[in-house]
Amino acid sequence: MSRNFIIIGEWKAGTFRQVTYEALQCARSMMNRQDQLHAAVVWDEDMDQEELGALLPVHTIHVFRSKNKGASATACIQEGIKTLRDRFAEKGESIDVIILGHTALGRDTAPLLSCMLSAGLITDIVDMTTIDEDFVFTRPLYAGKAFEQVQPRDFPFVLTVRPNNLPGKPSSSTAVVHGVSLETISIFESGTPKLIKEAEETKQDGETDLSEASVIVSGGRGVKSKEGFQPLKELAEQLNGAVGASRGACDADYCDYGMQIGQTGKMVTPDLYIACGISGAIQHVAGMSQSKTIIAINKDPDAPIFQIADYGIVGDLFEIVPLLTRAIQQHKSTR
Ligand SMILES: Cc1cc2nc3c(=O)[nH]c(=O)nc-3n(C[C@H](O)[C@H](O)[C@H](O)COP(=O)(O)OP(=O)(O)OC[C@H]3O[C@@H](n4cnc5c(N)ncnc54)[C@H](O)[C@@H]3O)c2cc1C
Repeated sequence: MSRNFIIIGEWKAGTFRQVTYEALQCARSMMNRQDQLHAAVVWDEDMDQEELGALLPVHTIHVFRSKNKGASATACIQEGIKTLRDRFAEKGESIDVIILGHTALGRDTAPLLSCMLSAGLITDIVDMTTIDEDFVFTRPLYAGKAFEQVQPRDFPFVLTVRPNNLPGKPSSSTAVVHGVSLETISIFESGTPKLIKEAEETKQDGETDLSEASVIVSGGRGVKSKEGFQPLKELAEQLNGAVGASRGACDADYCDYGMQIGQTGKMVTPDLYIACGISGAIQHVAGMSQSKTIIAINKDPDAPIFQIADYGIVGDLFEIVPLLTRAIQQHKSTR
């Protein structure tokens, strides 16, 4: 029996986000030879349709474009998937699995798709395996203090994958794509009006997307001012990383909320997380505890952040961070 898998691609700055490839790999590891892999992506002005096929090796890429420019991506995907569902049904087929990134878009959209398709929903997957031909997905609980393994009872189901956890490398352009189809979706006609009058992108320092960065240097209230982030930016630059923040730093207006990491901010899983002047409140830890290596710099030896850190440095961040930056610069110049 052939099944249809759909990954929801996220397009940013002229390419697909890394999490799209992680969703793709997740789908591939579940598929049999006769199954078909589709991608769906919301039309973006800077999207080059000719190049799409080379970027994403799937059977068909469905590009959804809303007639209404102000419609949200979530509403657009919902309508687009509804159209695909009906089209598959005409051929006697169905949508069996949908995979999204566990991003702002994925978290918004996955529950809606799950309801619409009467499908199971498993969110925030950090690992997957197959036991006796059944898929078993691992997801964190209680802000990363525990993990549960979940098995979908039946098809269809919807998954969201946490960025930076499953393998997924950008595709080679040699893959065969059978087609790119452009669907223009009429959001208002089908009764899911959702109009965003104005959208402002949250500011984030540097080019690297926090949720996909492999190195993050993060600052807390201990940086003491906007200017206090400067040494952290320099360290991040040396490490090709991104700069994040605790809510304490955001609330104090030292940086933008787009940089906030934690329960009510971004969930990150970098290879290296350097927490500078961050106490380690549970709400912050919830967003970064899955980082592969954690270094904490704090002048209070009893700060809770040291309980989850792999390496701890007790001292003043304004002395230690520039020392680290210089050491890395020196190391690079002697290579
Ligand atoms: C519902 C809810 C949701 C929340 N969501 C989030 C969230 O998503 N993300 C988040 O981060 N928080 C969140 N919080 C807030 C959280 O509880 C903490 O208040 C916040 O994380 C504290 O930020 P901080 O560690 O930067 O500040 P503080 O707790 O004030 O810690 C500052 C640290 O800096 C150290 N320090 C000071 N000066 C220096 C120096 N010169 N060198 C080295 N160390 C120094 C101090 O020893 C201290 O440990 C949430 C709270 C609630 C109630």
